[in-house]
Amino acid sequence: MTSRTGSDLRFVRLGRRRFLALSGAALALPGLARGAWAHGSETHVFPMGDIEVTVVSDGHLVIPTSVIAANLTGAEHDAAVAEVLGSVQETFQPETNHALLRAGSDLVLVDTGSGPRFQPSAGKLLANLAFNGIDPGDVTKVVFTHAHPDHVWGTLLEDDKTLAFPNAEYFVGAAEFDFWTAPDIFTVLPADFHPFAEGAQRDLMAVTDRLTMVREGDAIVPGVTVIDTPGHTPGHVSLLVEGGPGLIITGDVIGDPAFNVSHPDWVFGFDFDPEMAIATRRSLLGRAAADGNQILSYHAPYPGVGTVAATDDGAFAFTAVS
Ligand SMILES: [Zn+2]
Repeated sequence: MTSRTGSDLRFVRLGRRRFLALSGAALALPGLARGAWAHGSETHVFPMGDIEVTVVSDGHLVIPTSVIAANLTGAEHDAAVAEVLGSVQETFQPETNHALLRAGSDLVLVDTGSGPRFQPSAGKLLANLAFNGIDPGDVTKVVFTHAHPDHVWGTLLEDDKTLAFPNAEYFVGAAEFDFWTAPDIFTVLPADFHPFAEGAQRDLMAVTDRLTMVREGDAIVPGVTVIDTPGHTPGHVSLLVEGGPGLIITGDVIGDPAFNVSHPDWVFGFDFDPEMAIATRRSLLGRAAADGNQILSYHAPYPGVGTVAATDDGAFAFTAVS
């Protein structure tokens, strides 16, 4: 698998410091201001054709700014961070916007969030669902965009046994499942990323008896179809909610519109295959701009819904819809 080798080298280059900053040091950061109730009183609900979309927050993450424009270095990288955040900073706080789709008798949740094991500022999804009067037992379908910690580690409750959404069917990209559960995954990935694989395996295997592998064009429910969007992870998928202008739920194809719509060629530091991720990002943004679709961006400021337009410099512009 020659194509994987190059990706692996880039993945290795993320290095120990970045992973530790993500999973360990962030636990000790003080002043985590946004909590479970940050969006409770301003829940964003809107129709998309016959489907009702509710955006529910899982809280926020604390991430090193090295993941912003990870293909830039030195003064160029500092300038990129300053452009996005207003000044050069060590960390930033991407939010986590989950789509909850009420479609006929189905209640479809996109990703389960960080759960209780990742970062203390995240894992607020169940609390925010409760605040909005939504019983996790009423969720009939869960779609994983990909199996990174902030998207699947909320699958099990703290006891490691009980499903947070006990009555749901689950859906994941076939290539995503194959990647994380491959016998050689712990050889392919550097040791610093083994917790990612362990977590992905724990959560995917916990639902394996109710898990459906999906591919481009598959319908989750009528009017909600899968778009293959590999690159950030090998089997990353996005969703198209049809009706009205159409809504593309982008997962992590875009790191944050603040840097990845206006700069689609900036590598989002967790992109497994940066070149493929850029191509996918450009393709999906181009499609949204051409078709007039709205996008729902997972790591954008809440609620992360907006429109995309092509710009003269070959990039795109994001306009939030409120
Ligand atoms: Zn993410």
